[in-house]
Order: sequence, then C-alpha cells, then structure tokens
Amino acid sequence: WREAESIAAQLSTVTESAEAQELPLIAVCGRPNVGKSTLFNRLTGSRRSIVGDEPGITRDRIYGEIEWAGRDARIVDTGGVVPDDEALIPSEIFRQAQVALEEADSIVMVVDGRTELASPDMELARLLLRGGKPVFLAVNKMDTEAMQSQAENFRRLGFRNVLAISAEHGSGIGDLLDEVFASLPPEEVDEEPTEVMLTAADEMAEDEDGPQPVRKLRTHGDYVQKETKIAIIGRPNVGKSTLLNALTGTDRAIVSPIAGTTRDAVDEVVERGGHSFRFVDTAGIRRKGKTKLMAEKLSVVMARKHLEAADVSLLVIDAVEGVTALDANIGGYAHESGRSVIIVVNKWDLMTTARTDGKPPADIKIYEQQVRDALKYLEYAPLLFISASEGMNIESVFKKVELVSRERRKRVTTGQMNRFLEKVDFQKASVPMAKRIRIYYMTQAAVAPPTFVLFTDKDVKMHFSFERFLANQIRDNFGFIGSPIWFKIKARNKK
Ligand code: GDP
Ligand code: GDP
Repeated sequence: WREAESIAAQLSTVTESAEAQELPLIAVCGRPNVGKSTLFNRLTGSRRSIVGDEPGITRDRIYGEIEWAGRDARIVDTGGVVPDDEALIPSEIFRQAQVALEEADSIVMVVDGRTELASPDMELARLLLRGGKPVFLAVNKMDTEAMQSQAENFRRLGFRNVLAISAEHGSGIGDLLDEVFASLPPEEVDEEPTEVMLTAADEMAEDEDGPQPVRKLRTHGDYVQKETKIAIIGRPNVGKSTLLNALTGTDRAIVSPIAGTTRDAVDEVVERGGHSFRFVDTAGIRRKGKTKLMAEKLSVVMARKHLEAADVSLLVIDAVEGVTALDANIGGYAHESGRSVIIVVNKWDLMTTARTDGKPPADIKIYEQQVRDALKYLEYAPLLFISASEGMNIESVFKKVELVSRERRKRVTTGQMNRFLEKVDFQKASVPMAKRIRIYYMTQAAVAPPTFVLFTDKDVKMHFSFERFLANQIRDNFGFIGSPIWFKIKARNKK
C-alpha cells in the first residue's frame, strides 16, 4: 500500500487553482528538438512543472507559470511528450497546434535556426498564421551575435514577428517576452463573484452552534454551474482509459492544468452545449500498475484522490465480470465522499451479441438488479450500460453527468421542506418505536451534496433504516438524482 500511495503522491496532488485558469495562456509550438523544452524551462524557471517519464502516462502538454514586467501568464509546452514513432510526429504536432490555437491567447513557434526548414515547419506555420491569434517566430539556437542575422532567412515562413533567440544561453528572451506580453489581452479588473444570499433558514442553521457547512456559491442567476469535474474510477481493466478516450475524443479535448505540489495534474475538458466536462487527472486514469496487486491497490488510491477533486464520479464496472469486492470497495469510497455517482457498466457489447462464454445475451433488467443488490448503498446512482470501445451509449454519459451535476446543487426552501415533512407518514418507516425521533422541522443547509439539518426531540444518531427511509422520501419528492443526501441532527432538548 505504501508503494501505491507513493506512486499516487508522485502524480498530482490536486488542489484547485481557479486563479491560474484565468491567466492568459501562451503556447509554445514546434517540431521536436528545436528547443521548446529548453525555452520553456528557461521561461518558467523554478516554477515549471516537473516532467517525469513515467511509463504508462501519456502527458500531452506541460504547463507552467511565468511573470514578466509585473504580469502573470500561463505557458504551455505543446510538445510535452510525443510518441517515439517518428511517423506519428507530424500529425501529433498538428493536433497539439490545433489545441494551442483554440486555447492560447498568444503563440510562439520555435524553429531550429541551425537546420534547414522542413516541410512540417512550413505546414505548422501555415496553420498557426491562419488561426488569427498573435503569433511569433522564435528562431532558436542563435547562440552568437554573428548567427543572429541568419534568423532573417526564416522570414519566408510568413511571420511578421521574427526573433533570434538562444534558449540555452538566454539571449533574445527578453525581447521575445516583451512582444508576446504586449500581444496578450488587457488585464481584467477583478470582479467579485456574486454570492448567493443565505436564506433565513440557513442562518438559523448557523445560529445553532457556530458556522455550518453552508457553501457560498458562485452563481449566474440560478444555480447554473458551468463546469463539472468528473472522476473516472474503477478497478484495473474495466475500461477507464478507453472510456476517457471515448468521452474526450482526440480533437475536442482541451487540456488545462491544475497546480499540484510535485507535478501538474492533467485534466481534459470537453465543451458541449455550453457545459464543460472536466475529467480530472487524466494521467492518473491512464496510469497502470506493474503487477496485478499493485494495479489494484493503485486503483483504490487513485479513486480516493480523484474523488477529492471531482463533483461527479463514473464508477466503471466490467459487464463480463460483474460487481466484484474491489468494485464494491471503490463504490463505497465514492458514496462516502459525497460526490454524485453514476454506475457505468462497460463492455456491454460482450454481453449482447458476441458473448464469448456461449451464454445467451444478458437481460438488462436482471443484470441491473444484480448490480443494485451488490451496490445497495448506491441505490441513488443512475446506471448506464455502455461500450467504451464500440462507442455505444457514450452520449448518455454526458447527459447523465449534466443531470446529476444539476441535481446535486438543487436547493429546497425551508417552506417546501416543512410542507413535505407534514405529509410524510413516518409510521411506514420500519424502525422500532424506541429508535424513532421526532422531527420538528428540517432545513437544507448545504448543496453538493444536499445536506439537511433536522431539528429533533432527541439528541441521538438516526437509526440507519430511519435515515434511509427519510432520504428516500426526500428523493421521491425532490429528486437529487445521483447524489447522496447527508443529514445533521440538532436536538431541541439535549439529553
Ligand atoms: P524540444 O524537443 O523542442 O523540446 O527540444 P529540446 O529543448 O529538448 O532541445 C533539443 C536539443 O537542442 C537539446 O539537446 C538542447 O540542449 C538543444 N538546444 C536547445 N536550445 C538551444 C540553444 O539555444 N542553443 C543550442 N546550441 N542548443 C540548444
Ligand atoms: P482501465 O485499466 O480501466 O483503464 O482499462 P482499459 O481502458 O485499459 O481497458 C482494458 C481492456 O478492456 C482493454 O483491452 C480494452 O480494449 C478493453 N475494453 C475497454 N472497453 C471495452 C468495451 O466497451 N468493450 C470491450 N469488448 N472491450 C473493452
């Protein structure tokens, strides 16, 4: 376990850095060996992200922060890791450049001033120049003054801004930064996000004994959340990486960083219909353990880490193998974390037509019941049958994520809650009389997950089945699909 923990620690410790997200972004593009990493390291200095060649991790882009003339920006090295396969390189560069074009505010293309221009340079230049963003050509490896004049030869690539630099020696860097920073959009004046007014009920909850976990929400009118952070969790080989690929596709995915301690976590963000789906720490999702046991331990450690950074989790199950003890274990963490959960039964293609074990196609209803029985505590989680590798039902994953993301932020007013409470027939709860408590009133103190404060007659912990009964009644009336419901008890008369 210690080894698994340490591997996980080497990967990102994910902390949210919303500020970093708002900084302007400068992208560095170019084909391999022209000196992009050297330039990147020089620009970011000690603040650069540490790059490790960890087997099994695909790191597309490397981000760092940079300050110049009193202004901060993010910088991305688009050539972080390229496949060893030479043949793949050009297409990979273009894919990266495409992302840079979409995401960056300003772009620096690097060429090696000591070599002849190659056709990938020309194509890349054409692509970047067409993109309509400010672009700069850095002719690198111009280590001496005598060489610098050669940079003029590269004007034929079509850039207006051509600068001779030596990433290794540091010459020309200041001029490059002056120009690049001048091209960035003007700094925005800080505007405080609107905070939702606490309702009287919330204040009441707060009055009881100090501050309650009432979340202050950033809102845009109603509880519109623009981004949902998603953790893909599950044991090894259930298809997490395949699902991630299916969800992000290669072209639509835009990668952006969240600052970590030792290295940056790589998230992939998919924008669809005005909603962003942020898949957290995708390097971690693709991470494989070397031995079976290590892979299994790692999958648990990763699940916990990823849950911490997420709003919604996709608990992936292998349809052929069904719910195993390890699945149940990981599902338990998801439940306790307060994140919303969607159970994703993957590899359903193998259960329908092409069953390898010769059995007839599985009955979806019976199958669902089996999963529900094995994961009782996740009764609120929607369940989807998909095939990540065949691209079957992938669309429904986005829809469900959007739904549960909305549901977990829903707020019920105290008035609605108490009208509801009057109607609940507590006689129906199969709980011994002695274990029952009387609820005077009830208020929703927090969202995400929805958390209710119950004002009761007895200062006792709620009986498990009573809590479940109440949660189900709340769900029947208000939904909260996919989200656990939390309760807190406030006794009127302390025992
Ligand atoms: P990348 O693949 O584009 O990221 O390129 P690297 O930064 O890894 O650099 C490729 C090679 O060029 C390395 O051996 C660097 O040491 C070398 N290099 C980078 N910048 C310069 C420079 O300004 N002058 C010289 N002479 N070599 C450089
Ligand atoms: P991870 O360890 O959870 O990331 O699992 P992978 O994504 O690496 O997938 C494990 C294996 O299952 C790979 O051989 C995939 O090709 C295969 N696989 C993933 N999804 C499906 C699916 O929907 N159907 C089938 N038949 N195979 C799949």
